[in-house]
Amino acid sequence: MTLVSMKKMLQTALDGHYAVGQFNVNGLQWAQGILEAAEEEKSPVILAASDRLVPFLGGYPVIAAMVRSIVEEMGVTVPVVLHLDHGQSVDNCKGAIDAGFSSVMIDGSHHPIAENIAMTGAVTAYAEPHGVSVEAEVGTVGGMEDGLIGGIRYADPGECAALVKETGIDALAAALGSVHGPYQGETVLGFAEMEQISKHVGIPLVLHGASGIPNHQLQRAIQLGHAKININTECIQAWAAAVRSTLKTNPALYDPRAILTPGTAAIKETVRGKIREFGSAGKAVVASTAH
Ligand SMILES: [Zn+2]
Repeated sequence: MTLVSMKKMLQTALDGHYAVGQFNVNGLQWAQGILEAAEEEKSPVILAASDRLVPFLGGYPVIAAMVRSIVEEMGVTVPVVLHLDHGQSVDNCKGAIDAGFSSVMIDGSHHPIAENIAMTGAVTAYAEPHGVSVEAEVGTVGGMEDGLIGGIRYADPGECAALVKETGIDALAAALGSVHGPYQGETVLGFAEMEQISKHVGIPLVLHGASGIPNHQLQRAIQLGHAKININTECIQAWAAAVRSTLKTNPALYDPRAILTPGTAAIKETVRGKIREFGSAGKAVVASTAH
């Protein structure tokens, strides 16, 4: 199965009242663990590379080649998206598209809305003929975003509507109280604003910084229009805990395979749990026939 855009995948999820998980790839083991979980759960899945981490991961062509080859080698049958998370510039998004990413996010959210719309419009114009889907953001997700630590700034419904109308994006990240990284205390999501924005824009919403948000809040966010939920922190914490415990139990261990394999297993089980929570398990067929 080749990589697909998330356009129809997310529309189908929105209509079916479930969400597809985006899981960030931080290396080869992430791609393997995430894809194994998605295949076993028969779930559509979104693998993402954070633009900030692209140099660490070896560049867009390396990431695209790695994910494509693993999908092929593993004989993955579920629909897979390779997405650029928090694309930092129009040129970066073009670079990812040229390398074979099937979806990109352009994050112009820290610019004034007119500039955000101009950047996003430049990306949709380039992506559309390539069959690549585009996500954009309005407002500010709390915590670390795009290398910047910021406070939460709620998305303005009027700005959301203008951006969607003028750019033709496929999915909108409307920041409504979520935070990247670990939470301090329980999340307070703006459900009233969420409902208003979802009705207003009519396209699938994306929840960033979803690690640590309790399931009952996630379910409400899904019912109120979220069709994509981003998870990274929970996977990397599970990975780190598994690797740390392996090294602690066996201080003399130096075989990378023995050290890293429990980490891959931890990522896989975290992804499996999220897929079940989001309701996308068993939805691979529905998602692929929609293409
Ligand atoms: Zn994010």
